[in-house]
Amino acid sequence: MSTRKAPVWQPPPEIAALFPEIAGNAVNGLGERTPRPPRYVMWTRPDRIAHGRVQQYVNDSYEAHPRLKGSFAGPERRAKPVPISPHRRTDTPANWTRRVKGFALAHEADFVGVARVDPLWVFEGASVHLSFIVVLGVAMDHAELAKAPAVDSPVEVARQYNRGTRAAKALANFIREQGYDAEGHGGPGAGPVQLIPAALAAGFGELGKHGSIINREHGSSFRLAGVLTELPLVPDAADDIGAEDFCASCQVCTNACPPAAISDVKQWVRGAEKWYVDFDKCMPYFASTWGCGICIAVCPWSKPGTAPRLAEKMLRRRGR
Ligand code: SF4
Ligand code: SF4
Repeated sequence: MSTRKAPVWQPPPEIAALFPEIAGNAVNGLGERTPRPPRYVMWTRPDRIAHGRVQQYVNDSYEAHPRLKGSFAGPERRAKPVPISPHRRTDTPANWTRRVKGFALAHEADFVGVARVDPLWVFEGASVHLSFIVVLGVAMDHAELAKAPAVDSPVEVARQYNRGTRAAKALANFIREQGYDAEGHGGPGAGPVQLIPAALAAGFGELGKHGSIINREHGSSFRLAGVLTELPLVPDAADDIGAEDFCASCQVCTNACPPAAISDVKQWVRGAEKWYVDFDKCMPYFASTWGCGICIAVCPWSKPGTAPRLAEKMLRRRGR
């Protein structure tokens, strides 16, 4: 049962008017019990989605702010991949995995994991012919993130998305120089594959009630990037850190979310029962604040130094 006392934020008419007839929750497959690939709902070209006017509003509001203008137009966004070397090098999957992870950690990634691509992560209309995804995590400066919804927070988010993009493109180039195809993708624009399920499979942590991943080192204070590749790799295992048990009795994010978009109960989404944030409640506030982020900032696991202690405590408690 919710313990929320704060009033629920309501979207101003000019924001509400941007939304199409079809609910974002319907695009996302809320209530569907049969698995299917995801559909782009945002974070792609406005002309290819029902929520294009909302996406355009977010893009325009970035360009209108002096500290955010051009945030995603830096050199990392324009960098083209190097050609794939015609001289393919060979090694074992275990050695490639070690080398790829080592390269990623030496080139701006803070943590890294590997998963085999599941077709259910590939967006409808996208095509992926590469079997593996190397998922990269870049930690955020939590003090800046915690200023959400002030503009300092999206400034930090953009900084980290750009770092993730550089890390992904550098790793893709490294793999291409070994003679294997690889594509680097960095946010906030969506690539061909959903990164959250890939990161969960790659051992990044557990899905929190706020719809983001909780990691055993960084909580939810990080961003994702990914590299799709044909290089033979060894996938990681999912990581159980006890966050599921913690979320069951925590309401910090549900109470802090201004439009009350975070549900206390799991819901069916495209064939899986999981935590789900109400897109149609979240997005108007998100669009009004250059990306909000309050829920991941207030999550107790995100406070620097806290996640390792919480994971240890939760797993110890379960073992009793
Ligand atoms: S991003 Fe903001 S509006 Fe959206 S769920 Fe999190 S706290 Fe709520
Ligand atoms: S704030 Fe609490 S309920 Fe929300 S994701 Fe974090 S631990 Fe889970």
